[in-house]
Amino acid sequence: MDVLEELRSFRERDLPYSRVLSSMCTIPHELAVKAHQLFIGTNLGDPGIFPGTVELEKKLIAMLGDLLHNKSCAGYICSGGTEANIQGIRAARNVMRKREPNIVIPKTAHFSFEKICDILCVEVRRVSVDEDYKVDLAEVERLIDEKTVAIVGIAGTTELGQIDPILELSKLAEEREIPLHIDAAFGGLVIPFMEDPYPFDFANEGVTSITLDPHKMGMATIPAGGILFKDEIFLKALEVETPYLTSKMQFTLTGTRPGTGVASAYAVLKSLGFEGMREIVRRCLRNTRMLVEEMAQLGFEPVIEPVMNVVAFKTDKAEEFKQELYRRKWVISTIREPRAIRFVVMPHVTEEVIKNFIAEFRKVI
Ligand code: PLP
Repeated sequence: MDVLEELRSFRERDLPYSRVLSSMCTIPHELAVKAHQLFIGTNLGDPGIFPGTVELEKKLIAMLGDLLHNKSCAGYICSGGTEANIQGIRAARNVMRKREPNIVIPKTAHFSFEKICDILCVEVRRVSVDEDYKVDLAEVERLIDEKTVAIVGIAGTTELGQIDPILELSKLAEEREIPLHIDAAFGGLVIPFMEDPYPFDFANEGVTSITLDPHKMGMATIPAGGILFKDEIFLKALEVETPYLTSKMQFTLTGTRPGTGVASAYAVLKSLGFEGMREIVRRCLRNTRMLVEEMAQLGFEPVIEPVMNVVAFKTDKAEEFKQELYRRKWVISTIREPRAIRFVVMPHVTEEVIKNFIAEFRKVI
């Protein structure tokens, strides 16, 4: 068998996105794929060799800064939300310079924070959430002490798509002079395009860094995560010397770093524009509503009224449903608490996909 044939045979065993209702990734936009191909082989880890790609990344960061109400923000495109969160917390820790540092995060935070506490040796203090699954502000305040190097708020939780009270977190962060990192890995390219968007970004003085991933709702090719800082000080706090490269210093976590994510993210945002993104988000929200209505007819109630295109439905049989659907080659997920099945209504989850899913789910229940 020729090697390409062999590769194809492996690839054919993967599930098509049209059966995936659990993922925050999606089919990349066709322009993203073209842009990706154009930049294959680029390495932003050695910037002197790729000045064009470096310039393009600056343009993309400025574009994202414009979206996040800080035209002069600093940052870069990385491997994903996990790396962006690591770097956000690492920068805060390095700027704050405390012995035995701790961070205060909502219980609903993504599991990347488990890795962060392990890698960065910071204590992670988890805060309960209220009945709407938003972080409890009084508890955040109680858990902060003189060794706290960052507070974390989430704009679009992984499990429910909920947004923490970032206005209040920002005020608290300002008062106590503690960096505030916002994990908007998912929500960062949803919220700005909603009607009446919640102000989760740098418009709040206390917000010092934001995770925002183009490879999620930005329809860029994987890998394309994003970490953005309020100003250069945080990037500087990440620098190490790079003796034998074309640059003197490097602030990224990985060394070799593809330019493909930069190019594909830029291609999508530039070609669709903010108006085109609004249309994509509008469609995803409309389809989320459709899913809620279809599930209501089957007797399922959402855990919270969906805030964005993530929704979970209460059921004691969550695990059973997930496994039976997987046997039938449909992918959904479950959440930690309460027992529920979870859906992410990405751009590939069209009306037709929802109809097909509901027909199958009817058989399962
Ligand atoms: N943060 C949030 C809120 C997420 O939902 C996710 C992934 O779903 C991540 C971080 C991690 O992103 P990645 O898988 O790209 O590392």
